Amino acid sequence: MSDDDFRPAQIISERLRDRIRSEGALSVAAFMTEALFHPMAGFYATKDPLGAANDFITAPEISQMFGELIGLWAAECWMQMGAPSRFELIELGPGTGRMMSDMLRAGRAAPGFLDAVHVTLVEASPALKMVQGQTLANAQVPISWAKSFDKAPSGPAVVIGNEFLDCLPVRQAIRHKGEWRERVVTLDPEDETRFVFALGPVLGEGDIGFMAPELREAADGVLVELRPGDQQQVEQLAARFARDPGYALFVDYGSSKPETGDTLQALRAHQKVDPLDAPGTADLTAWVDFDRLLRLGEDAGLSAFGPMTQGDFLTELGIEQRAAVLARSVDEAGQAKLKRQMHRLVSPEDMGALFKLAAFSAQGLPPAPGIAPFKRAR
Ligand code: SAH
Repeated sequence: MSDDDFRPAQIISERLRDRIRSEGALSVAAFMTEALFHPMAGFYATKDPLGAANDFITAPEISQMFGELIGLWAAECWMQMGAPSRFELIELGPGTGRMMSDMLRAGRAAPGFLDAVHVTLVEASPALKMVQGQTLANAQVPISWAKSFDKAPSGPAVVIGNEFLDCLPVRQAIRHKGEWRERVVTLDPEDETRFVFALGPVLGEGDIGFMAPELREAADGVLVELRPGDQQQVEQLAARFARDPGYALFVDYGSSKPETGDTLQALRAHQKVDPLDAPGTADLTAWVDFDRLLRLGEDAGLSAFGPMTQGDFLTELGIEQRAAVLARSVDEAGQAKLKRQMHRLVSPEDMGALFKLAAFSAQGLPPAPGIAPFKRAR
């Protein structure tokens, strides 16, 4: 670990140890929240973790084609809402701002779109806000920031989140002797500088309510992740779309049906590391459960679409045609690069199958472009 990483890690580890000593063991969600969003030393608070040189790389950082195609999707949604003369383009967790910049460039193809659009970036990290400001310094449309989604301006909207839901804190439940217990983080009794997982309190009906019904009677030892953040996000979306029309699109890695098992993962400098080691110096994420997400949306009164794989979606939106157009203005090496980028985004061996998307809309709007309605298993 470099000196740079050392101090934030110390600050967060100290704070977590203090909290565990005074409050007792912490939920995985509380641990994740400190590690990612501690205002001084959290992973997102301290640095720009995105991009090839940093901790992980996301689809918009791999290729401009990703943001461009999502931009065309957003413009299509705008047209389906009747091309309102002002509408809100809201991005959740915009990272470096790269995707928004590519979306806006592609949006030029839809006459009137850029005149209507007001961008709101919902970002928790002060460091990334600065990066976004730089990336979008020359954008020709009004841009503002909001600390949370419910603070974004009202009106017809398109809401986008790429790799946003995966960093919302998760809770983990473990089936133990016929009961659900919270999986918690505590101090190793042998070495109080280390964090370890332990079995925490029995979970009540209020907590189990987050769990997919078919998982509730699992065998002893099974671990199920609970995603209260997804539920909150979907409820806020439903509240917004009950007042104003809109479409929303979430892209993330995860499963299409409810699954059991621990998906909490830590990435530091592109390497998987122990999620409990040196909190604040690695990105912590957990898989999105798309079936659950879509059910939550429907239950909250939204029209729901998907899940669909990223590969199928980008192919449907025309990534091959876009790559062919871009290939015309670059040399052979550039063309080979475009091919590699497309392959990474679309191929099932790479991001194409693991990454999925779900879309929602206000009721009464035409279906979300390019993505089939959600079919509920039961
Ligand atoms: N969408 C970008 C970045 C993904 S990383 C991309 O695809 O490259 C996750 C992003 O979500 C970061 O910008 C992070 O700071 C932000 N974020 C995570 N949790 C958040 C929250 N609760 N509120 C606002 N932003 C959040």
